[in-house]
Amino acid sequence: MSDILQSIDPSNGELLGSVKTHAESEITQMVTAANTAAQSWGFLTIDQRLQAIEKAYSSAVPAISQLATLLSREMGKDIRRATGEVHGTVYGGPYIAESVKQAIEPSQIGRTRIEYKPFGVVAVISPWNYPLAMATNLIIPALVAGNAVVWKPSEHTPLIAQKLFESLAPHFPENVLQIIHGDGVQGRILVESEVNMVAFTGSQAVGKDIMQRASASLKRLVMELGGNDPMIVMADADIEAAARFAVASSFENSGQMCTSTERIYIDQAIAERFEQSVVAIARNYRTGPWDMDGVNIGPIINDVQHEKIVHHIKNAVDHGAKLLLGSADQQPPYIQPTVISNMKPAMLIEQVETFGPLVCIDRYSDIEKAIQRANNSSYGLGGVVFGSAGAQAVADRLEAGMVGINQGVGGEGDAPWVGAKQSGFGFHGSADGHKQFAQIRIVNQ
Ligand code: NAD
Repeated sequence: MSDILQSIDPSNGELLGSVKTHAESEITQMVTAANTAAQSWGFLTIDQRLQAIEKAYSSAVPAISQLATLLSREMGKDIRRATGEVHGTVYGGPYIAESVKQAIEPSQIGRTRIEYKPFGVVAVISPWNYPLAMATNLIIPALVAGNAVVWKPSEHTPLIAQKLFESLAPHFPENVLQIIHGDGVQGRILVESEVNMVAFTGSQAVGKDIMQRASASLKRLVMELGGNDPMIVMADADIEAAARFAVASSFENSGQMCTSTERIYIDQAIAERFEQSVVAIARNYRTGPWDMDGVNIGPIINDVQHEKIVHHIKNAVDHGAKLLLGSADQQPPYIQPTVISNMKPAMLIEQVETFGPLVCIDRYSDIEKAIQRANNSSYGLGGVVFGSAGAQAVADRLEAGMVGINQGVGGEGDAPWVGAKQSGFGFHGSADGHKQFAQIRIVNQ
């Protein structure tokens, strides 16, 4: 990679700006500086750290609309979603901080005091699909627990990350929060540097590479990874509600969401009506740039990802799938709303994460086989069941960290965000998640 990272508007290829990438020697120096900064930051009281976080995040409030526009342009999501993400980040940051404080409050059992100490330096490595929210979920618990943070955002969304960083960083002591720019090269250098923990959100493949590299010094890890979420629709489901959910969840964020629905197994007794409803709903989705009225599917982040989605559609068609809507011949940057039926286990759309706006469906006659197929995956992020009488029993058997019955998978409030199987290692959110950003220790006296 050259030492300049260019940021491109995915809807039209326009150059939005650029940042300088960091060389290995710079990363090493920054991590050394972070280690020094961590000592005094970790020594502050939690309330002092919370005050700095509160100030830092409120400083971004006046820039909300500017941040939302930049996020839309750089990542491609529509302005309503971008504004939602910026709001969640700017107002949600201090809220997460408060719940981390409560989670790591010391406690006493007889003569034993239980304490939560900082690790030192946490490397936060984040993806492009929710470039602010995903980073904030990792940065805040790390900082509240008294760690210094070195953040490497995605190479596809460097400008929005830099903008948030510039707003936050001046409110912390020097080098408590730093940013490095680059791609996997810089990511690997950071993982192998003198950081004590890696907090990562991204793909399964990169998660495995990080684990391998981090093992040399047994660095602490929290990793939220990719998914290939199944949805089972039972014969007694509300067909219209299931169809609305199937389309909305498959197309959310242009399908570029870790918990978007990727595979649907529908009871054959209601399959015809379900597929018709799905097509009717999906047909109304419009592709276009972030600022065009009525757009609900934006551009795909880049040509490589676009090519992967088209390849998955073609692979499905070659293996006997039927295109109920959309086509296998789509030009960047958009993927038109696409509905595929007759999905089979040999197809890529069933086997791996596609990360695009496709609704992929197959019919079942035996619920046991549907459950088996839903679980026949190395992923285990989310899973959804639509149905009445037996839905709970089916949900109990889904191998996923987050399960929705007649609804989506995200929990309420500060519930954990967690992947089972190879969709995660550790997790964030909730008291249990927050505690993973601190070293627990006991003191007897
Ligand atoms: P990615 O794994 O390609 O990249 C994520 C980050 O890791 C980027 O900053 C990248 O530069 C960096 N990186 C790449 N190679 C690296 C390496 N070898 N060592 C260290 N860092 C490296 O993922 P992406 O394309 O940015 O994001 C999409 C993926 O993220 C999808 O799989 C999606 O499901 C997943 N995701 C998961 C969650 C979750 O909460 N489980 C949330 C959002 C996205």
